[in-house]
Amino acid sequence: MCCNFKNYFNVIIIMTIIAKIKNMMGSSYDILYLYPIFIIMIYPIVAYGDAVLKKVGQDIVQGELDVVKLAEDMFETMYNARGVGLAAPQIGMNLRMFVADAAPLLDDEDDEDETEKKTLLKIDFKKVFINPTIEEEWGDEWAYEEGCLSIPGVRGDVYRAPNLRIHYFDEHWVEHTETYDGFAARIIQHEYDHIEGVLFVDHLSSLKKQLLKKKLSNISKGNTDASYRMKFPLKK
Ligand SMILES: [Zn+2]
Repeated sequence: MCCNFKNYFNVIIIMTIIAKIKNMMGSSYDILYLYPIFIIMIYPIVAYGDAVLKKVGQDIVQGELDVVKLAEDMFETMYNARGVGLAAPQIGMNLRMFVADAAPLLDDEDDEDETEKKTLLKIDFKKVFINPTIEEEWGDEWAYEEGCLSIPGVRGDVYRAPNLRIHYFDEHWVEHTETYDGFAARIIQHEYDHIEGVLFVDHLSSLKKQLLKKKLSNISKGNTDASYRMKFPLKK
């Protein structure tokens, strides 16, 4: 499915109601300004090869951007693509912000690794991370086969530390310092990499990278069968 029909229907229903109210009130009342409140954007996801994925993101200045709205849009974009994390560069924004919600992993009935993920996840978390800094990582690195919405159809084992401490602001600009472990830590590390201009494939062995070269080049050109809308840097 290439778009979130539920949201579109909601927007259409709300717009119909507003149009009816406008008719009843006469044309002298303009309540068009209500429209933006209800519209949720589902962004195309930027594919491998786009320069924005290789840049270090810039800090967001409080008040310069509606981060509550952006976070909502990022969550919807992420759910639409069945992801558990999404970083701003993946929707073309060179900013230090990412969202994560691991709950969809636990609902995935087709997933054979569900029990393993439940154990690793430990907590069911949905969070917005703005201007984050991973202050410390510790423990023996463990491998897990990662994937990425910007690199559909590619997976590979990435080694990461099991524990981390992160400082960040949420979408209401409340400051937090928290520690994470297990699967939550891994999602955070993967998304944090994105705002540092690093992709999971950058962590793979040079042999594995060599084997993936053709596939990655095809993704940049739009030769992929992702089920969500994407933006390809080399698509002609
Ligand atoms: Zn990713």
